[in-house]
Amino acid sequence: MAKHYDLIAIGGGSGGLSVAERAARYGARCALIESGRLGGTCVNVGCVPKKVMWYAAHLAHALDDAPGYGFRLDYFGFDWKKLKAARDRFVQAISDGYQGYLTEAGVELIRGFARFIDAHTLDIAGERITAEHIVIATGGRPQIPALPGAQFGISSDGFFELNACPPRVAIAGSGYIAVELAGMLHTLGSEVTLLVRGDGVLRPFDATIREQLLERLREDGINVLTRTQIRAVAQLVGGSLDLHCEGRAGALNVDTLLWAIGRTPNTDQLNLAAASVRMNPDGTIPTDPYQATNIPNIYALGDITERFHLTPVAVAAGRRLADRLFGQQPERRLPYENIPSVVFSHPPVGTIGLTEAQAREQYGDAVRIYQTRFRPMYHSFTARPTDTLMKLVCVGPEEKIVGCHLIGEGVDEMLQGFAVAIRMGATKRDFDDTVAIHPTSAEELVTMR
Ligand SMILES: Cc1cc2nc3c(=O)[nH]c(=O)nc-3n(C[C@H](O)[C@H](O)[C@H](O)COP(=O)(O)OP(=O)(O)OC[C@H]3O[C@@H](n4cnc5c(N)ncnc54)[C@H](O)[C@@H]3O)c2cc1C
Repeated sequence: MAKHYDLIAIGGGSGGLSVAERAARYGARCALIESGRLGGTCVNVGCVPKKVMWYAAHLAHALDDAPGYGFRLDYFGFDWKKLKAARDRFVQAISDGYQGYLTEAGVELIRGFARFIDAHTLDIAGERITAEHIVIATGGRPQIPALPGAQFGISSDGFFELNACPPRVAIAGSGYIAVELAGMLHTLGSEVTLLVRGDGVLRPFDATIREQLLERLREDGINVLTRTQIRAVAQLVGGSLDLHCEGRAGALNVDTLLWAIGRTPNTDQLNLAAASVRMNPDGTIPTDPYQATNIPNIYALGDITERFHLTPVAVAAGRRLADRLFGQQPERRLPYENIPSVVFSHPPVGTIGLTEAQAREQYGDAVRIYQTRFRPMYHSFTARPTDTLMKLVCVGPEEKIVGCHLIGEGVDEMLQGFAVAIRMGATKRDFDDTVAIHPTSAEELVTMR
């Protein structure tokens, strides 16, 4: 007879681990199925190894800046291989740690690839298990386009396998992964060309931030080519790649091509039809505000849904679903408004809430914008003058803050605290009434006129 559980999570990434662990802590009998490495995208090929590389790039900038503060440095270069080995060990330790995390929580780990047999039954390599509740948290994988020679390019997964800094890289894409990888590679020594299909980067972000970031990327020395789309890739003798782009005479020759054009949801091999679970045309799974799919006992969360593709979002949705199903909190759910996020560009971008354009569409003339652009004190002594820009989107006579958009040194760490205030309904007056911390960049957020 098939083994039966209260809850099965498919996928051992941020979402699956969180829902299974929280449900088990309530006493539910839980299993988690994972076909790859525990920890999923975030731990193995996402946030964690990326942040390690960002720190390395950040240090490279600090070394460039140090002479402005009186340091005389002998600089012996950067050992990519050494960092990669240390980074891989760090990532492996986190991934291995999840095994203990699950055991300690009482979740059974099943290694293998899950497919639906019906709404309560899954097949893993010929073995069947059943559950009252099934959570789909299978995430996504990088997209490689269907065009000639595309296979000669690598994806963000491939970036983490690189054993050396490629001398000349082209990155196709304009989202946060493209921008982040472009910044890191450029700072660590690559000559980077960013190929963008539209007019700029980070399309859903506030226009002011997008403009400022584009300006920064270019000033830093990244070759950003807008309205450029690769049509074919050819590998030359010796291994370099010729990129043939629409509307451009001559090929762009690079050593490495990196596709960062989006991610494909991992729904295609789940056999969702056997459970009658509906999908969107792009392969994501629609859910109601409580993460339920169209089938009452099947839920979806994290990158497999159409909402914010961020680790803390998958974690929060997972934990709240478990609270609701097993923790006697029937209304518990993740509200998807005011989700803060950071882009680890150079300098970083932080954003929460409505963009100016979204606010004007919703509230018309009731919108008031406060904005400041300044040279942070740190950069008064460096050879790369980098401005910080801050923008508050306020609404109504009480000037409730409905959006906050930042770009500049340190905003990655700054935003979290302001996100708490904005989520609690802070007004411009609340910001004004908060005593500033001086001298910081953050104080500009509470002193804007
Ligand atoms: C380069 C990069 C950088 C990122 N940086 C950040 C960041 O800085 N901050 C942030 O918040 N987010 C970041 N993200 C996004 C973040 O990694 C994801 O939002 C998060 O991992 C989603 O978690 P998830 O549980 O939905 O899916 P995943 O973490 O992708 O986990 C899904 C798991 O399911 C497994 N699986 C798939 N199908 C099956 C099956 N049929 N049976 C069994 N197992 C299966 C997969 O092997 C995988 O381990 C980044 C992503 C990338 C790619």
